[in-house]
Amino acid sequence: MNGVRTRAVHGGREDLGRLGVHAPPIDLSTTYPVPDQAEGGAALGAWADGAADASSPVYARLHNPTVARFERALAELEGTDEGVAFASGMAAVTAVLQAACLMTGAKHVVAVRPLYGGTDHLLATGLLGTETTYVRPDEVAAAIRPDTGLVVLETPANPNLDLIDIADVVRQAGAVPVLVDNTFATPMLQNPAAHGATYVLHSGTKYLGGHGDVLGGVVACAGERAGPLRQLRILTGAVLHPLGGYLLHRGLATLPLRMEASQCSAAELARRLAEHSGVSNVRYPGLHGAHPVLGGQLRGTGAMLAFEATGDPNTVVGKLGLITPAVSLGSVDTLIEHPAALTHRLVGEETLAASGVPVNLLRLSVGVEDVEDLWDDLDQALRVAAGERVDG
Ligand SMILES: *Cc1c(COP(=O)(O)O)cnc(C)c1O
Repeated sequence: MNGVRTRAVHGGREDLGRLGVHAPPIDLSTTYPVPDQAEGGAALGAWADGAADASSPVYARLHNPTVARFERALAELEGTDEGVAFASGMAAVTAVLQAACLMTGAKHVVAVRPLYGGTDHLLATGLLGTETTYVRPDEVAAAIRPDTGLVVLETPANPNLDLIDIADVVRQAGAVPVLVDNTFATPMLQNPAAHGATYVLHSGTKYLGGHGDVLGGVVACAGERAGPLRQLRILTGAVLHPLGGYLLHRGLATLPLRMEASQCSAAELARRLAEHSGVSNVRYPGLHGAHPVLGGQLRGTGAMLAFEATGDPNTVVGKLGLITPAVSLGSVDTLIEHPAALTHRLVGEETLAASGVPVNLLRLSVGVEDVEDLWDDLDQALRVAAGERVDG
């Protein structure tokens, strides 16, 4: 099973033949009978120690078989030993911060901006007792201190599609673990662990689920990193609901196909937008020439793009008919949003501008609709916003 499409369809389903079922069962049990209480106790102890498996789940906050299938499938796609799923992407970010900093006594985080607004805000407020130094990708080594517990980066970055050489940051980080948020690229286009990332994080809410109907997060990592994450998940209760685990697992099966279709349309839209009189600047990997990571670390250009309109961004969004004005991304339908107003509002306009996110930037998540329909919708809205009359 080497092909990625094959792995996406069949991953995490090893036990289905033995169970005699075709679709993975959704196990909604909150508790599990433990007739031998001593054996149940041993299982509980194993979970509490961070084990990946034990003789009984005992209780749903400790383990769930439906969620575990999704975790195995995702880990296989990322090329890591294990996956640990959480209730949301932010719960996953929180768990990594707790594992890398709180559990080790480290206090300091080095982060490369821009980051998803929620991650940026969590780090900037120091809510979890950490202190963050924000740097450019080539300033990571200089920012590392004896008490640095984690380096955080996103590539392609949310929302401006900045690209970062993961191996270079890993080299600069030395012994400090590196968290790479791989939400935009998905495991189809990029596997950060292969470039030395310690933790590979996804907001499963986006491409993994792919249909805008499930909230979840997951961290792919080595076995010795997964244990503490599971321990934290048990104690903080940041568990993914089994129905969410089922939907994320099902989403993986079509992830390669959805990504290929969306990427194809996104590349076409990026090319056309770059020539549109109502657009001043388009950000899309590879659009303005080669980048060292493109074709290597990042195997495709992806389905996210960002652009600045010459007109009011709010008018552009308001004039769209087919494309949905909404936060989130990675769904089968195309979504657009204004990061400075919504997803990245709490970061603040000045900080955003300083990290390469202009205040009028619009972020487009391209879905799997017909590209001509998407273009017609964008074209008319951009022309109205730019003050041109739309005829016909
Ligand atoms: C959405 C998002 C998150 C947060 O995920 P939730 O599932 O909304 O908690 C983290 N990182 C990136 C890049 C995201 O786009």
